[in-house]
Amino acid sequence: MHFPIQYHEPLFRPPSEARSLIFQITLGCSWNKCSFCEMYTSKQFSARKEEDIFNEIEAFAPYASQIRRVFLADGDPLVLSNRRLMRILEKLNNTFPNLQRISTYASPINLAKKSNEELKDLFDAGLNLLYVGIESGDSKVLECIQKGETFESTIEGLNKSKAVGMNSSVMIINGVGGVELSKQHAINSAKVLNETQPKYASTLVLTTHKGLDHYKDRFLGNFEQLNQLQLFSELKLFMEGLELKETIFRSDHASNNLVLKGVLGKDKQLFLNQIQQAIDHPELANLRSDFTRGF
Ligand code: SF4
Repeated sequence: MHFPIQYHEPLFRPPSEARSLIFQITLGCSWNKCSFCEMYTSKQFSARKEEDIFNEIEAFAPYASQIRRVFLADGDPLVLSNRRLMRILEKLNNTFPNLQRISTYASPINLAKKSNEELKDLFDAGLNLLYVGIESGDSKVLECIQKGETFESTIEGLNKSKAVGMNSSVMIINGVGGVELSKQHAINSAKVLNETQPKYASTLVLTTHKGLDHYKDRFLGNFEQLNQLQLFSELKLFMEGLELKETIFRSDHASNNLVLKGVLGKDKQLFLNQIQQAIDHPELANLRSDFTRGF
């Protein structure tokens, strides 16, 4: 089959969207400033023409019965007005009658800017899963990494979307604030998760794709990189602070030297034991010792 979409590269999607059909409804990221993120620095943000999006959706009409999941790209489609978003969601629903899930990346601030009614309309039209890179719950860290969010805006965006029924998959970056802010990063990131009780949460380790010096240049403050032991200690402090009722948790990104997969809160003590073991025996943790519960 000739694939009917010519994507505007680079194209990113979360790992769990590997089997989804992707439509780029915006290109790049309207914020595009985060110190650690190089995803869209090669792109100028723009909203794509509705006609082009609709043509791509229609190109998949012959396969409509097989399409269950759609992911909307690029970085932050929710920056679009609801009028535009609703037309796209309606087109998707009309074209793909078996659609079960529509998901997208979202920033808390774009969620917070929508009214409750607007979010409810999007949810009712099928947008039911958001991937939210909150990175940190600490306002100082968020300022240093130029995230454009705060502790409060993150909680507001996540809880507003949750209130209308949307699920969130949130991500925290281990080590993103450096040595100086490590403790407050761990403690306040746990607090944000406790306040928002997301459906999914994950951690990854800071990776400086363009080198440490480049990251330091974009970090608004003093950045000293955490060593492996400090990364594990930060993860432990974060885990100790979590009071989650039923969140599917994973730290299985390639950047993690310790793989944790399970459900919080019931696996909290098991995770803490795993992290302590990694602190005591880092040479074993480097083997990416796997603790899985089979999901
Ligand atoms: S908001 Fe997301 S996509 Fe945009 S620069 Fe920040 S991390 Fe990258």
